[in-house]
Amino acid sequence: MFIGLLFWGIFDIRLSYFVSTIYHLKGRPKKVIALSFDDGITELTPRFLDLLKEYEVKAIFFCIGQRIEKYPDTLRRIKKEGHLIGNHTYSHSPKNCFAPTATMVEEIQKTDEILKKFEITTCFFRPPYGVTNPHIARAIKLTGKKAVGWDIRSLDTVIKDETRLLSRVLSKLSHGNIILMHDTSERTLHVLEKLLKYLKENNYKIINRLD
Ligand SMILES: [Zn+2]
Repeated sequence: MFIGLLFWGIFDIRLSYFVSTIYHLKGRPKKVIALSFDDGITELTPRFLDLLKEYEVKAIFFCIGQRIEKYPDTLRRIKKEGHLIGNHTYSHSPKNCFAPTATMVEEIQKTDEILKKFEITTCFFRPPYGVTNPHIARAIKLTGKKAVGWDIRSLDTVIKDETRLLSRVLSKLSHGNIILMHDTSERTLHVLEKLLKYLKENNYKIINRLD
């Protein structure tokens, strides 16, 4: 029973088992939500930015340090266009789910250093794969970060069918949601366009403030 609960804590960030985590907007404001994109920057990110610009929406990008180094101009654009930027580790290696505290601290700090070159500082951190454990929790505390999760996981890296993907998100939509997507595929880009249209038509407000 205890072991079961422990695993549940490790793999379900919403439980805030090891570290207090923001997983929805404070006070669950009515018809207000936040859109978050993980695992960028990619060659597709500019197209996500185009779409967000068209709908006048500011989002949250949890960027991987290594990928920022690859696409510095896109990071400048994300910043310039007023999106919020969060830390999503340097390498996003699955191995780090089991790494010691020091490795995780290094992963976070390395990305902070890169962001600093662009005059960006962020207190927000999203653990890769949403995994938290005592080491990751400790690293979050040591680096002074606030952990950010989500309460709607689009599963956009898993579900291949765009219609299914959109209806999954819409079926979970309530108030004050933080939606998790990835700026890594054309599929998500198409779904995002439909989602933005729906949110606009239904008078949802999209914000990128987490505190
Ligand atoms: Zn990720």
